[in-house]
Amino acid sequence: MLALTYHGAKDVRVETVPDPILAADDDILLRVTATAICGSDLHIYRGKIPDMKDGDILGHEFMGVVEDVGRGVTAVRRGDRVVVPFTISCGDCFFCGRQLFAACETTNTGRGAILNKKDLRPGAGLFGYSHLYGGYAGGQAQYVRVPKGNVGPLVIPHTHLSDEQVLFLSDILPTGYQAALNAEIGRGSSVAIFGAGPVGLMAAASARMLGAEKIFMIDHHAYRLAFAQQTYGVLPINFDEVDDPAQLIIEQTDHRGVDASIDAVGFEAKGSTLETVMSTLRLEGSSGTSLRWAIAATRRGGIVSVPGVYAGFIHGFLFGDAFEKGLSFKSGQTHAQRFMPELLERIALGELNPDVIISHRLPLTEAARGYELFNKKEEECRKVVLSP
Ligand code: NAD
Ligand code: ZN
Ligand code: ZN
Repeated sequence: MLALTYHGAKDVRVETVPDPILAADDDILLRVTATAICGSDLHIYRGKIPDMKDGDILGHEFMGVVEDVGRGVTAVRRGDRVVVPFTISCGDCFFCGRQLFAACETTNTGRGAILNKKDLRPGAGLFGYSHLYGGYAGGQAQYVRVPKGNVGPLVIPHTHLSDEQVLFLSDILPTGYQAALNAEIGRGSSVAIFGAGPVGLMAAASARMLGAEKIFMIDHHAYRLAFAQQTYGVLPINFDEVDDPAQLIIEQTDHRGVDASIDAVGFEAKGSTLETVMSTLRLEGSSGTSLRWAIAATRRGGIVSVPGVYAGFIHGFLFGDAFEKGLSFKSGQTHAQRFMPELLERIALGELNPDVIISHRLPLTEAARGYELFNKKEEECRKVVLSP
């Protein structure tokens, strides 16, 4: 089969690789019909994620048709159309029992990305990510093995919904939604969303749906801000054009700040092994700019919700200001399985249209170009969907 494989920073290729096979009783073999490139794939593409191996198959946002199932699979059948969440979760452990699927402690055979206390159990395994997360082959491919077939894959019975309409249930839609729920957004809320990428846009869509009144959106790509303004009615702030976006937000919220901020940017570390990433961060600090702005823009008693990915030490984190204002922090990987069914219903009802953010549709064979466009934010790229 064909698959997008990793060979080092900025070097991804579509190659012929062996077809996957069922390896456990509760495995599914999926024929992939649509897959997307995520901002999290860019961390790998930029060489920032340690423990990658030559030839690893990338991709954690995918869906398709069930081609074959192991003997123990009862939740789906051959021929079902399913969307697969990016975290691999067992459904049985301490954390899965609490619906904290991204913390599943049985599916990651790697060491995870915890630097302090290495004996801490790692969280869930991830598709198409590094061997820190179990090294599971990803879904930017014609076929993929899906472990834990009774827990993750969500059957899409609605024949009137296209693949594009439901594909983002795999990650960015639940991620934006969890970020908005963590921010406790409700009727009349004010929120500042940092980053107008796919995750920020899904957070804006969710915030609107939950009744937010004022949504500030901060980025420096004018085309992304313009899209968010037209689609979700956000108040755009281009940080290349103002000294301090947080100051502007404070001035526009009666000198209090917003009820909540969402950091949909994440870290920008240098280095390639966990240790070099760490020591670079220790010496220079990760930029953490968006996190600092988020803290500064949030009112007393407010919430900072962080779906953007961070690793290691973050310098300049104004914990003193956070304490003075009594802020709460919520962060982490998304428990996608928890939100997928209700979000599917919202899509079916027309309350959410996540596919409107797609800017590029490419055949899988052109995936390398898709990575380059999305990484450089060229051709007004917002989201790339690949068809295998
Ligand atoms: P993206 O790269 O398309 O978007 C990031 C945006 O942030 C860009 O438009 C960029 O211009 C903007 N930006 C950069 N610095 C900024 C700053 N200081 N202030 C405001 N905006 C700034 O990526 P994406 O797909 O939207 O992903 C965003 C983040 O979410 C990534 O870190 C990704 O790894 C993470 N993510 C997390 C989860 C999760 O489970 N928590 C899931 C998916 C993605
Ligand atoms: Zn993703
Ligand atoms: Zn589990």
